Amino acid sequence: MIPFLDFQAQYNSIKVEINEAIQRVLNRQFFILGPETDAFEQELAEYLGTKHVVTVNSGTDAIIMSLRILGIGKGDEVITPVNSFIATALAITEVGATPIFVDIDPDTYEADVNQIEKKLTKKTKAILPVHLYGLMCDIDSIMKIAKNFNLFVVEDACQAIGSSYKGKKAGTWGNIGTFSFYPGKNLGAYGDGGAMCTNDKELYEKMKMIRNYGQTQKYHHKTLGYNSRLDEIQAAILRVKLKYLDMWNVKRNEVANEYNKLLVDIKTQNIPKGFFSNYHIFLIESSKRDDLREELEKNGVQTLIHYPVPIHLQECYKNLGYKNGDFPVAEKTAMKILSLPIYPEVNNTDIKHTAKLINNFL
Ligand SMILES: *Cc1c(COP(=O)(O)O)cnc(C)c1O
Repeated sequence: MIPFLDFQAQYNSIKVEINEAIQRVLNRQFFILGPETDAFEQELAEYLGTKHVVTVNSGTDAIIMSLRILGIGKGDEVITPVNSFIATALAITEVGATPIFVDIDPDTYEADVNQIEKKLTKKTKAILPVHLYGLMCDIDSIMKIAKNFNLFVVEDACQAIGSSYKGKKAGTWGNIGTFSFYPGKNLGAYGDGGAMCTNDKELYEKMKMIRNYGQTQKYHHKTLGYNSRLDEIQAAILRVKLKYLDMWNVKRNEVANEYNKLLVDIKTQNIPKGFFSNYHIFLIESSKRDDLREELEKNGVQTLIHYPVPIHLQECYKNLGYKNGDFPVAEKTAMKILSLPIYPEVNNTDIKHTAKLINNFL
């Protein structure tokens, strides 16, 4: 069986270090906002090439709190791609703002930036671009639009830790970048986790406040806050894993290259020049997607679909009034894409086996 993901293989390769890190926290008996969290935030800031990192409970919380501290709420509009994990839009509606969707590019599957300006209104306050599947979107164009129209940019880099464009990392372009340490992400905790990063000292102070009940000092609450923090055990685990992230991302690229080499006449995600993808997800396209998926499953290859239903057609957003046909590229893409197993430990035999099954079937 070739699983879609293999946590066990990764754990086996770093078991001694991970166990030691967890033991260190247990011996210390300090669990929230302690030395591991401080150290991880510093190490991640250094890794990203940004001034400040504030860890939180999840990627979703990171986006919600980023919007909150930028003052985005009721009556405001936020531009975002219609193809993403639901959490991106949930964060916008959670703060009371309205998501304004743009369709995607049919080859990169990232936001079609040409549609952004047409969607701007007096109510537009921010752009929430997503670096989906590990590939960064056209962030250069987005930053230009944001500058011209005086908009905030909060990057959803939850799938793109370690990815870059022109050598500058995902999450470090906008006012705030957000990350997720959900176990299945490229830098995964053994539980939930997330982070916000910024170069802005004022935003940094607000981040530290909002994740911790809005307090500046114990029992003194300046703003309305949340309880959303990364715990010390997760921070200790992530400190170990961060050291391996670049190596793992390179290995994922090797897996992707191998798939691309072996798959005959099959459309895969276009990674334009200048972009380094962390290959969080590797997708292929097929008009016979559902049958292909069944064939692979029968032969022991697990696949997933990211994502079967574009956000504007999700039941929870019925109230937004969108219908089939509003975002044709995303809708068509959702019916064709299939995600293949990709992680550093996939071996060449597995890749060959999977590619052969696909080539033979199509
Ligand atoms: C995983 C993910 C999130 C949310 O992260 P959680 O830690 O699961 O809350 C947000 N956006 C995207 C694109 C994601 O993939």
